[in-house]
Amino acid sequence: MQAQIKLGRIAGISIGLHYSWFIIALLIALSLAEHFHIVNPQWSGRMLWSAAILTSVLFFLALLLHELAHSLLAKARGLRVREITLFALGGVSQIESEAPDAKAEFWIAIVGPITSVVIGVVLLAIARLSGLRTGSEPTTPLVSVLVWLGRINIALAIFNMIPGYPLDGGRVLRAVIWWITRNADRSTRLASQVGETVAFVIILLGLFLFFREHGNFGGLWLAFIGWFLLDAARASYAQAGLVSELRGRRVADIMDRSCPTVEAHLSLQDFVDAYLLHKGLRGYVVVQNGQIVGLLTPHEVKQVSRDLWPQTSVQAVMRPLGQVRTVSPETPALQALQMMGRDDINQLPVVSNGHLEGIFSRSHIVRFLQAHAQLNGR
Ligand SMILES: [Zn+2]
Repeated sequence: MQAQIKLGRIAGISIGLHYSWFIIALLIALSLAEHFHIVNPQWSGRMLWSAAILTSVLFFLALLLHELAHSLLAKARGLRVREITLFALGGVSQIESEAPDAKAEFWIAIVGPITSVVIGVVLLAIARLSGLRTGSEPTTPLVSVLVWLGRINIALAIFNMIPGYPLDGGRVLRAVIWWITRNADRSTRLASQVGETVAFVIILLGLFLFFREHGNFGGLWLAFIGWFLLDAARASYAQAGLVSELRGRRVADIMDRSCPTVEAHLSLQDFVDAYLLHKGLRGYVVVQNGQIVGLLTPHEVKQVSRDLWPQTSVQAVMRPLGQVRTVSPETPALQALQMMGRDDINQLPVVSNGHLEGIFSRSHIVRFLQAHAQLNGR
């Protein structure tokens, strides 16, 4: 989930919005205006809309606090947090590395729902102090806003504690399994399987509500959330398999040693004809007098218009070595994979004492895993 709109940074964490968030903010404002109108028919249109818009903005802030709680605790435990993105179904904290132990995972997961519960309870307490009576609906705009936000935050905490990995509850479950079995990879697989089952139940429940009440929108929404969770649980399961295969391996075990090199003085036209179209690889190491000077990928070639290819040299468009991330053959494979994910790149040149040893790329990881799976008879 990449944020399309950057809002700024809090404690070094970039905060962003995904476009889908606007759809949900609009839906919340619309349904709130309707809700306030039913509960308080005497309100003016202007009051109704101001309250609805203010509530959706505050709801967004509460979601952000929930995610910040996860992210700040993760940072305190030494993990890197890249970004918090708010989207249609809530927020995601992009925590880059794995928690060091089960206890850290447990607290990083559970602090989000705890934050939402605290926000909910505090808001309801303020509503109570501002004149809300038990059993009656709020009458003033302020109390209405407080009550709605209070309830939604508690509902959010309860929903997030459903044990469907990668929901917070699923992460808590994973931490508990991890603590009992002492096996991080197995705990991810087990928690993802529970997550898949929970997602199926949510989809079925949503569809049941939708068909029983002839077009119940909430039911359809629930089914949609279930489908999203199913997808996320399956991806987590696949990721866990990948992590356990790569754990304990070094870059040297997986890298391609026969990586193609290109001479720096070659023209782009010759490079495309002789290398890119024939070998079809994603990255080429550029050499000059036997020394590595840079990296060339189809991305750089696309920046130059086709009619300039014959007179443009590879050297002119390549990414110089100083700007290229490299790894050593001894780098743990998982760490290299994380580096590629962080910078959104497909390959890393493997360099040892200034010499090119090979290329570590996504396609080689896939090939390595396939060969490994065949050897294991799977
Ligand atoms: Zn959370």
